[in-house]
Amino acid sequence: MTWENRWHPLLERWVTVTSHRGSRPWLGGRVGEASVSQHYDPGCYLCPGGARISGIKNDDYTDCFVFDNDHPAFNSTAPEPMPAAGIYQSARADGLCRVLCYTPDHGGRLSGLSKGQFQDVVRCWRDQTDQLMRDAGYEHVFIFENNGEVVGVSNPHPHCQIYATPFVFHTVQQEIQAVGRFRQTDGDNLFEAMIRSEQADGRRILVETEDCLAFVPYFAQLPYETFIVPKGPWQRLPLMPERVLDAMAMALRAVLKMQDQLWPTPQSYILSVHQAPKSLPLDHDYRCYIRLQPMLRGPGLQKYLAGVETGGGQFLNDGSPEEKAAELSAAGAQAQ
Ligand SMILES: [Zn+2]
Repeated sequence: MTWENRWHPLLERWVTVTSHRGSRPWLGGRVGEASVSQHYDPGCYLCPGGARISGIKNDDYTDCFVFDNDHPAFNSTAPEPMPAAGIYQSARADGLCRVLCYTPDHGGRLSGLSKGQFQDVVRCWRDQTDQLMRDAGYEHVFIFENNGEVVGVSNPHPHCQIYATPFVFHTVQQEIQAVGRFRQTDGDNLFEAMIRSEQADGRRILVETEDCLAFVPYFAQLPYETFIVPKGPWQRLPLMPERVLDAMAMALRAVLKMQDQLWPTPQSYILSVHQAPKSLPLDHDYRCYIRLQPMLRGPGLQKYLAGVETGGGQFLNDGSPEEKAAELSAAGAQAQ
């Protein structure tokens, strides 16, 4: 049993690990098995040749396929803001939102892609980041996938989203500040220190290669949360050597397969790529990493972010990171 508060150095807050609560009685509902078996759905707006709401038809694509989101949260066509009263401020919701279909296979899943297809996806993330920052001039690019009904996915076709904005999203900004403060207080790179601490313990490491480390962090906010961190000082995907990029891709693929091997029902997750904004000086310690936040804490058991998390901003993790990492490693070993 693990019952203690652990410091999250990147978000500079405490996380409460309460592993004894993982087996508490649960009278609520369970998440059903949402399996998609067909490879093509003629009504799907993400399938090859599918008609989108804008009336545009998708290409008959065979690999990765990127297009501008028809319902963007941020766009250059966003209206000028309404004047705000008193102390309130507003700004235009400028930016660009894109959708990336990983594969033409409607019933596919990121974890099920071949090694080659998986590398193509991560290289597409890199190329999109480069294009949106360098050519289109956006300050920041945030890439994420919402996977599964419990995180509100509107279409099961395997895809992720790419948001380019003239400002930095809050969590990444918080992390950049924490990394900067750590350099001032401890004279060290926070990512390096984190990698060394994980290696010194060793129990939470899922994949280790020459170029990257995948682990359930000591301070995980969710039972199966996983970080994939490069061992070199790469702030953004386009700055990573291809070798490192491919190592990150293979580590992510291995971790997703472990997650899916745990139970008969696949894991639901939020995947996000955290990278530095364009204007961050290149000598800053911030590092591009991939964060996987699985939203099920057991087979069909959804982790609800309720009063303590959403109301109070305090995460309660119902699983010990050491035990959960061991479960994932065992599932991965079984799959081989
Ligand atoms: Zn589809």
